[in-house]
Amino acid sequence: QEELIQPMPWFGMDIGGTLCKLVYFEPKDLSECESSASEVETLRNIRRYLTKNSAYGKTGHRDIHLQMDNVTVKGVSGTLHFIRFPTSEMKNFLDLAKYKGMAKLVTTVCATGGGAYKFEEDFKREVNMKLAKFDEFDSLLKGLQYIDKNNPSECYYWANPTEPSKCFKVNHDFSHPYPFLIVNIGSGVSVLAVYSATNYRRVSGTSIGGGTFLGLCCLLTGCNTFEEAIELAAEGDNTHVDKLVKDIYGGDYQRFGLPGDLVASSFGQMNSREKRSKVSRQDLARATLVTITNNIGSIARMCATQEKIDRVVFIGNFLRVNPIAMKLLAYAMDYWSKGTMKALFLEHEGYFGAVGCLLQFHE
Ligand code: ADP
Repeated sequence: QEELIQPMPWFGMDIGGTLCKLVYFEPKDLSECESSASEVETLRNIRRYLTKNSAYGKTGHRDIHLQMDNVTVKGVSGTLHFIRFPTSEMKNFLDLAKYKGMAKLVTTVCATGGGAYKFEEDFKREVNMKLAKFDEFDSLLKGLQYIDKNNPSECYYWANPTEPSKCFKVNHDFSHPYPFLIVNIGSGVSVLAVYSATNYRRVSGTSIGGGTFLGLCCLLTGCNTFEEAIELAAEGDNTHVDKLVKDIYGGDYQRFGLPGDLVASSFGQMNSREKRSKVSRQDLARATLVTITNNIGSIARMCATQEKIDRVVFIGNFLRVNPIAMKLLAYAMDYWSKGTMKALFLEHEGYFGAVGCLLQFHE
């Protein structure tokens, strides 16, 4: 059995509370990887399977727009592929891995996230794979540094976030990043203060995150997917749901510089039966999105102030296909810090942990 332990294929897995992120490194030249003929054949099959479809059954997706070509991992050049599926589908994933013959070739998979612990036994039992476990924040930072170095257009910010017609993405040079704050918005939220490539602390977090948005939105609107929730929110108006400063003051609260259009009480109109009867599913979705996002923004700002850091990088899959939340964060950071803090975003938003995990395994 010994000789079957081969370095390829290379995977990194980040098994989160909602989504499992899978990164696959496809070597440019399979003959470079010392493997037997039958292994090369299996590797070819795996490669063909993983890179052919952009949709894996009903629930898995390959994010083709994020694919990174001509990158080097451990001296081997190739392509990084980005794949995600709901963590709730793990059983099907393991069945598929077995069926595709991956179990014959892969003896160890590098994994991070809570699922690396939760599913360790299942990997062993179902496909006889060992999980090499790595810490999720170490992985996240390693992946972030690697991807930023390899993709010149990775980091960006939103210019003029309050004016829809003038709002656009601007590339940001993140080559001298320290110190910065990371706000990772997954199912829950973690905030890290990063002082150097290896020196960081988890300074805060909140359970009110992306999972809360999706959960509340499903409850309130009857929607069933994140994409649906975001589409509803895009068509809604949160001011039908929230109580604004002007609903209370009749205008601005001038003494403390609070504009009339500011939300004073999230969902604050929904105690009225009459208001409830007029509100739409779209309005409720929008209010949920605004409530969760503004709460995260204000925690981020407090952390940044506390740590005396002015660059705040927002990542995590909550920001996937979610320009409303990104622009809201961009605006809130700028407005409440009087222009001293900057909200930054990264294209590979939810995949840094999986990439970092793959890299650490091959260090
Ligand atoms: P975790 O590691 O906790 O799973 P992620 O960074 O993957 O965290 O983000 C999960 C969050 O991303 C969800 O709570 C939801 O708000 C959002 N999200 C984005 N796309 C999807 C999707 N296709 N399915 C479910 N949630 C999604």
